[in-house]
Formats: sequence, C-alpha cells, structure tokens
Amino acid sequence: MSGADQYSVLFAPVKIGPVTARNRFYQVPHCNGLGHLRPQAEAAMRAMKAEGGWAVVSTQEAEIHPTSDLSPYSENRIWDDRDIPALRLITNAVKEKGSLAAIQLAHNGHHAQNHLSRAPLLAPSELALQTAYPKQARAMDKTDIREFRKWHRAAARRSREAGFNIVYVYAGHHMTLPHHFLLPQFNDRTDEYGGSLENRVRLTRELLEETREEVGDDCAIALRFAVDELLGTDGMQAQEEGRAVVELLAELPDLWDVNVADWSNDSATTRFEPRDGFQTSYIEFVKQVTSKPVVGVGRLTSPDLMVSLVKKGILDFIGAARPSIADPFLPNKIKEGRIEEIRECIGCNICVSSDALGVPIRCTQNPTMGEEWRRGWHPEIIENRGKEETALVVGSGPAGLECAMQLARRGYEVTLAEAKQELGGRVLQESGLAGLSAWKRVTDHRIYDLQQRGNVQMFTDSRLSASDVVELGIPNVFLATGAPWRRDGRGKSAFHGISISSGTQVFTPDDIMSGVLPGGGPILVYDDDQAYLGGVLADHLAQTGREIIFVTPASMVSPFTELTLEQTKVQRSLLEKGVRLVMSHTLASVAPGTANVQCVYTAREHAIECGSVVLVTQRMRETDLYDELRGLSESPLTKLDLIGDAANPGLIADAVYSGHMAARNFERDAGDIDREFFRREIVSLETV
Ligand code: ADP
Ligand code: SF4
Repeated sequence: MSGADQYSVLFAPVKIGPVTARNRFYQVPHCNGLGHLRPQAEAAMRAMKAEGGWAVVSTQEAEIHPTSDLSPYSENRIWDDRDIPALRLITNAVKEKGSLAAIQLAHNGHHAQNHLSRAPLLAPSELALQTAYPKQARAMDKTDIREFRKWHRAAARRSREAGFNIVYVYAGHHMTLPHHFLLPQFNDRTDEYGGSLENRVRLTRELLEETREEVGDDCAIALRFAVDELLGTDGMQAQEEGRAVVELLAELPDLWDVNVADWSNDSATTRFEPRDGFQTSYIEFVKQVTSKPVVGVGRLTSPDLMVSLVKKGILDFIGAARPSIADPFLPNKIKEGRIEEIRECIGCNICVSSDALGVPIRCTQNPTMGEEWRRGWHPEIIENRGKEETALVVGSGPAGLECAMQLARRGYEVTLAEAKQELGGRVLQESGLAGLSAWKRVTDHRIYDLQQRGNVQMFTDSRLSASDVVELGIPNVFLATGAPWRRDGRGKSAFHGISISSGTQVFTPDDIMSGVLPGGGPILVYDDDQAYLGGVLADHLAQTGREIIFVTPASMVSPFTELTLEQTKVQRSLLEKGVRLVMSHTLASVAPGTANVQCVYTAREHAIECGSVVLVTQRMRETDLYDELRGLSESPLTKLDLIGDAANPGLIADAVYSGHMAARNFERDAGDIDREFFRREIVSLETV
C-alpha cells in the first residue's frame, strides 16, 4: 500500500461548523515569542505551517483586553481595532496557502500581570499572582463579569473582521478566566458563578453563546478545555468533573480542542513523559459525549498512531504544537509517503523556553523555526551551490551533521570525518542518559538523510590532523570539533578553577556519559553549570543505586529547566531517589574522601565526605585543529569555518543552528551576510 493509501483517512476533509478543513492536521494554538511585537515574523511562521499541509493553523493566545496584559511576553493582542491589521497579516498568509486560520481569544485573569497596562487584575476570587510579584487580583463582581463578557464579544467581532475562520473560547492550562471559574482551586464564589459545577461552567457557556451570536454564521467556535489537571482527587479529573463539563456543553462549540492542565503537563517533555500520544487516556471519552469534531494532542508524530486514533474514534483532528514546530511539513511528508523524512520532535521544550524568555521561537530539530521572515529560511528549500564543488566537515555532533546535511542538499560533494567509532557527538552521549533517549532523533534524522545521498561520504574512526586535512585536498573546511567538559572546576563560580588535591577521584560529564561509574563511596555531583546536565547526571547515577550528593551554587536544582517547564519534576525526581541536595554552596576544594563546600551567602565552609566528584562546570572548546590550520604559512584552504560548540558552547539547539547557518552562508558574499544580518520589525513612530 502506498503512503497515500495507508494514511488516506488523515487527508479526508472535516467540517467544523460553517467551515471545512481540507484534512485532519490541526496546528493547535502555541506560543512563539513573535506575537504582537513581531507580527510579520509570526505571519510567515504560521504560513509555513499552512504550506506544509496543516489544514488549520492557529495563533497563540490573543489577549483580549488591557486587563489581560502578558507583557513582557509577546503573545497576540486584540485589545481594540488597531490590532486588526497585524492579525490580518496572519489570516491572509494562512488562507493564501489554503488553510483555515484560528484565533485563541484569551483573558488571562490572575495569570496576567498587567505590567505594561497597570490595569487591575481580575479573578473569580481574591487571588495572589502565581509569581513572586506582590500583586493580587480582586474577585470580580457582577459588573466586572458583564464587562469581561462585552470585551470577549468585541474581540470575537474583531476576529471575524481580521479574517479568522475559527474563534476560540479558551478554558485551559490554568491560564484563563473561564478555566479559573471552572476550578474550585481558584473559585470559592457563593453566587451563581461559584459552587456547583453548573454554576462554575456558567461563564464558559455564556462566552460560547455570545461568541456564536457575534460570529457564528461565518466562523466556527472552538472550545479549548483541559479535561484533567493531573492532580488526582485534588483537581478536576477526566472521568469525573472533566467529563461532566463536556456533557454540559457538548453541542455548544463547533469543535472541542481537549488536553490536560497545566502547561507543564500538556507540554510534558520526553524526559518525564516519553510516550507519544500520552494524553490519549484522558481525552478518549470526549467523542462519546459530543457529536462535534474533537482535536487532541500529546506529541503525535507517528502516522500509524494518528491513523489508529482516528479509526478508533478518539480524534477527528490530529492536533500538534511541537510536532508542527519540529516539522512544519509533517502532513505533506505523510501524504507523499515520505515518512522517513519527518523531523520528529524530541520533546526537549527548547521551543517553550524561548517563549519564557520573550524571544523568537527556536527549535532543536528545526533550525529554520522563527527564521522564516527575518532570514527568509525555508525548512525544506535551500539555495543550490555556487562555483565551489566540495566541502569537508570534521566532527559529527549536531553541528557537523546539520552542516553536512545542508551542504549536501545544496549539491556539494561532502566528506564527513568523525574521530569516534560512532557518529553523533554529544547527542550520542547525552541520549544515553536516563530520560534523554528521544534526543537521539536529532542525529538519527540527519544520519538517515546523509545516508540517502550519493554526494556524501562519511568516515568514522577518523581523527584528522591538520596535515590529514591538507592531504585530503578539499579546500572548504567546516570544523565542528565540539567542546568537552573541563576537569579543573573552572565555571561561573570559580574563574580560576577549584583546588583539587592529587589522588582525588574527579570525573567529568564526558566520563560518565562514556560509561564510567566512579568507584566506592558517595558520588558528589557539583553543578555549577545550572542548566540541565547536572540534574540529569545525578538522576542517572542515582539509578545505579549509588549514594549521590548534589551540590550547586543555585537555590534550586537545574534552574534553567524552569524555562522548559521541568524544574519541579527534576527536583522531585532527585528527592524521590534519595539524592542529598546541598543548595547555595560552591565547591571550594576537593581532596581524597572529602569535599569542602562554601555557602554563597556567608562564605562559611563545611566538609562533605565523598568517594568521588563529578564536575559539571564549564566546557573547553576543542580548537587545536582550527588553530593549526589557521597557523599554516601557506594554506591551501579557501574556506575554514569553526562551528557549533567548538565556536560557542551552548545547547544542542545552538549547535544545530550554527551548522545550518554555516551551510546557508557558504559562498555568500561576506558583506551581504553582514548587511543582512536579519530583518527587523522596527517600531513605527506613528501615534495610533
Ligand atoms: P557540536 O555540538 O558542536 O556538534 P559535539 O561535541 O557534539 O559538537 O561533536 C564534536 C565531534 O567532533 C565529536 O564527536 C568528536 O569526536 C569529533 N572530533 C573532534 N575533533 C576531531 C578531529 N580532529 N577529527 C575528527 N573528529 C573530531
Ligand atoms: Fe520539539 Fe524540542 Fe523542537 Fe520543541 S524545541 S518542537 S520540544 S524538538
């Protein structure tokens, strides 16, 4: 059976109220750090999804009023008519590619902070903000509720004017007023909007009815609803009140977009939720309760799983945020039977971290994500080569593999050399740690692609010296030689390194990742990196049954992972495994059997007994080959580029991006590259 036949059910048109989606692929709303500050970039990114075959393409949440101001984060905004032109950019771009455009209207209640607008904060009950900022939301009175409903109506009207085909009422993620009203953990009202479920659901019902009155003839109305909070009996559960809500509102929306709350559960990482389709058991009841089409998510990347979800009557639409970010062309690849070419999401949440930082979206797997407008990058199209014909890439980590793949796609004869016996560099190492196996998709995708090409030669077990490179006679060289971890303790907290007495058992992350298990006694993991690896290593080592002591200058484990929605889970996991946590301490010195740690506030020291120390501090760029080649008195090379971690140690996403950029820029005029660094959306000086 051809790909098209086997998966044809995924390409059947589906009616949603007054509109029809051309297939079952539905890009659900997702944040992207572009939003109202970068509307052209947002429109181009959404249009790419439509071009890639997603029949419905949604915005991220659109703030409907200044009392729902998410600044400094750049979401969409539909406060008044002045916001319509920017939103129309999105609808025009999406509809031009044959897809339906959806808008997720949102009032964020006490999840907003109103830092820009300084408007009063609103909530069903008296509620403190969910952040450390000392503000409170007031319990909405009846006038507030009437006003809110008017704002929502007006936003729905503007949505139609902006050209949207689907308008959302959003009751999910613990992030919006309708959701806050639904949940007893936020709502202790005693009037007709509190108490019984019928009362708590009243506001959502009113919004659905009023949105229909405003736009229902032309636009479909979608309800995004979290059926389960994953809090057990302490919260809403799919088989209890979650189901009851769907029963109460069953036929009111034209489409149910269902998931779990909060966002960290909905966008669970593979580290903590490795199963693709992990939300199925929560949402599978919905179609039994409503006749309306249902969309659901859960990192759906496998076409076979998609077909079975449709055929079993669980979903009408295959919803995706992250899989559509990692591969905007996922639907088209399935349609054309190019399954092996799908760039599967690895569930790392680097995309989420960009939103949390308020910067344009980035993706580990898809380096073109967020670059569609400002750099004109297309995930599937790259310029053909110029006059040069060959290229050598040294190092097969994420940077080397991406660079080699894109150079090969451009038509160069590519030679890839790797010192180790296996391709993959740091990805191969890191994906061997507990919880990170899905990360291997980064190298699997690229190695598979390179293997299909006739213009690529790959060599393992081939550590190249400068004379080897010269002998090869390839004039264009890209060095992706990586950055191993330091063994001297130099890092954020110790610019000059740590005092290490001779005889101390000191290991680096590279040692542990290559399979070394330190000998007897407790293992002290010192995490001055404070990103993710220290926590992963501690967890990994704890699973061998050894006693682990985790020391960090930070006040929590792996603070970086707050950005990927994982920090609570990371810390919980270590505590549950009995790892002893020593926060807010640097490592002052180590000697056989002892480590001296120092409080970051008082500088008081105390000793900790341990058998060995794993130093997760800083990385050392591997530049020997680069330096030697640069130092050649008569270099035969036309091009010598240092890329990836060897140039700037960072995330795997940064290494992929660097490799991609180097391949794109090859044979471009240096002046053009400099002049066109990237396009910017500069604030207009017009007063509106
Ligand atoms: P990046 O993240 O930048 O891609 P990695 O550390 O993942 O970097 O990968 C670097 C790879 O380069 C490693 O697999 C390493 O074995 C390889 N390497 C380093 N120096 C050489 C060399 N001289 N010749 C061939 N391969 C090398
Ligand atoms: Fe998936 Fe990671 Fe890309 Fe996000 S950044 S879409 S989680 S691969």
